[in-house]
Amino acid sequence: SAKRHGRNHDRRFRPSLEVESDRHLIILNELRQALAQGAQLEVYYQTQHRLDDGEMIGMEALLRWHHPDHGMILPTEFIPLAERHGLMPALGSWVIEQVVAQISAWRGQGIKVVPVWVNLSALQLIQGDLESRLISTLSQYRVPAPLLGLELTESVLLDERAGDISPRLEALRREGLQIAIDDFGTGYSSMAYLKRLPIDKLKLDREFIRALPHDHADAAITSAVLAMAQGLDLDVIAEGVETTEQRDFLLARGCRHVQGYLYARPQPASAVEERLRQSDSTALT
Ligand code: C2E
Ligand code: MG
Ligand code: MG
Ligand code: MG
Repeated sequence: SAKRHGRNHDRRFRPSLEVESDRHLIILNELRQALAQGAQLEVYYQTQHRLDDGEMIGMEALLRWHHPDHGMILPTEFIPLAERHGLMPALGSWVIEQVVAQISAWRGQGIKVVPVWVNLSALQLIQGDLESRLISTLSQYRVPAPLLGLELTESVLLDERAGDISPRLEALRREGLQIAIDDFGTGYSSMAYLKRLPIDKLKLDREFIRALPHDHADAAITSAVLAMAQGLDLDVIAEGVETTEQRDFLLARGCRHVQGYLYARPQPASAVEERLRQSDSTALT
């Protein structure tokens, strides 16, 4: 039949697509099992620092998957897949609970903790009970809300399926949680939402940092964002800072916070715990 013919036609001319989708389905199933068992998934932590004196001021939670055959799989590979196939609210909840439990464990050992920021996907926000789940997880583990930050990208913030999220973010902030816009400058952003949405922090995407200080456009954009944020009373953290030249440029333009390989790579909780113990910071406990 014509239908059958069409299928054969596809197979002959687009073999890589079919192989790719088979591979995705296998990975998806393995991810489902990994989530059910919890064993292969791990939250890594990347520290964030004050630019002027290097003091640790926070960390970002970044999900890792230790696959038995493929080694470490990065989130850019499996999170979009999880989002497309309905695994994302569950995976996101798992990350949040791991992070809150970890903060609680550190506090229980008398370790001074800095705020930990988790990435939220659009599907977690569309799920209407995100706020109550967050609040109940925090209280279950007796973790003060200011120790948890939420990172939302512009596309998540502006996703219409989530409705008007301004009052929801406002409610979370009233509870004490902090809100950051992740990958700032790379989405379909309009400056209008900066006026409208209750936000604590902008994370300047590493796209703009990479070629500093030599690239004129990146230098101009970075300088302008820093000036604007100052006027709006928003903190800015620069992502992906790898060199001292980048750091010096940012420092000279009034950027106060950084995250990047120059300071630390994402690392397991045990490794970051060492740094927390060493740091004699004014961190919250
Ligand atoms: P992101 O939230 O923008 O996280 C920052 C990414 O930049 C991380 O990649 C981090 O390892 C990387 N990075 C940090 N400093 C540097 C640097 O100096 N140089 C370079 N080249 N890279 C640097 P990672 O861990 O691969 O995560 C990629 C993305 O996956 C994240 O981007 C975030 O969008 C997503 N993601 C990670 N964990 C989660 C999660 O638990 N939930 C959700 N929804 N998304 C997550
Ligand atoms: Mg992030
Ligand atoms: Mg980012
Ligand atoms: Mg990014």
